[in-house]
Amino acid sequence: MSCDMKYVVDIAQEILAIPSPGGDTDRAVERIEREFAFMNIPCRRTAKGALIAVLEGQSDLPARCAVAHVDTLGAVVRRIEDDGRLRVLPTGGFGWGSVEGENCTVFTLDGRTYSGSLMPDKASRHAFHVEGTDDPRTDDTVAIRLDEDVNCVDDVVSLGIGVGDMVSFEPRTVVTQSGYIKSRHLDDKACVAVALGACRHFVDSGKKPARTTYIYISNYEEVGHGTARLPEGVGEMVALDIGIVAKGTNSSERAVSICARDSRTPYDRGFVKELAQLAKSGSIPYRIDTYFRYGSDASMAVGQGEDVRFSCIGMGVDATHHYERTHLEGIKANLDLLVAWMES
Ligand SMILES: [Zn+2]
Repeated sequence: MSCDMKYVVDIAQEILAIPSPGGDTDRAVERIEREFAFMNIPCRRTAKGALIAVLEGQSDLPARCAVAHVDTLGAVVRRIEDDGRLRVLPTGGFGWGSVEGENCTVFTLDGRTYSGSLMPDKASRHAFHVEGTDDPRTDDTVAIRLDEDVNCVDDVVSLGIGVGDMVSFEPRTVVTQSGYIKSRHLDDKACVAVALGACRHFVDSGKKPARTTYIYISNYEEVGHGTARLPEGVGEMVALDIGIVAKGTNSSERAVSICARDSRTPYDRGFVKELAQLAKSGSIPYRIDTYFRYGSDASMAVGQGEDVRFSCIGMGVDATHHYERTHLEGIKANLDLLVAWMES
């Protein structure tokens, strides 16, 4: 593992362990802010709570921006049931089946945290008919079972838990001997780690990127309003976001994907070509792919009217918005392509 990669994997694991469901991302943002400070990279927070760091470039050509999002899927408490279970609404797009039985943390407004699990109402195979345990999982048939002695609404309220409280699911991060990294929320924390790895590369080597480059850590991507406005003077942006590995897609866990089209828009053809050429000349494994149900901070920004060349690259990830998995080779390919672009 190259030095950069060890750093990327370590910081990825650290950030993955910090809960940051959409709407409640400050803890993770603070950690990343500290990382920029360690590297002496100037950084500011936007009013919305995102982070913008800047690496000064060698030329005064129009600036660039690389964006990765720190917000993750999660849930919000919607109702406390008579039996003390918590009905929740999802934050971001996922099926309840993907978090069934998963441990979670509830964050109260006064700063307390409680553990629980996301359970279907009819979980027990011994207590319910087969038809019951196989019921579809909907907002009304799954709930959080708190690990507290709660049997009614008042019991829950007395813990300080209320409607609107945030819920994060355990990421269960595992790095295997064979080089796979399995975790929830690799989307997009693996890419945040890659962005930090690229910063580390420039700081450690004392080199400057070809152009001034902003590193934008957005915090509402999963719910569709991540990067809306870019810093002044940006002419080119790359969203760092996962490639989709599944039957029928072209991505690979061992390569970086370059997005040619998502559900919002085709991507800038010339930019796709440029990135593919950078990958080819650097012997970086890459795949060009199209995503059928997908949006990135880049397609979001241009959809909001930003006048920039835009693209989206990211390591291929299997089972996205479920228990995700990628490979260290994919992360490395992502890092190498990002650095190659910043140096070009
Ligand atoms: Zn994402």
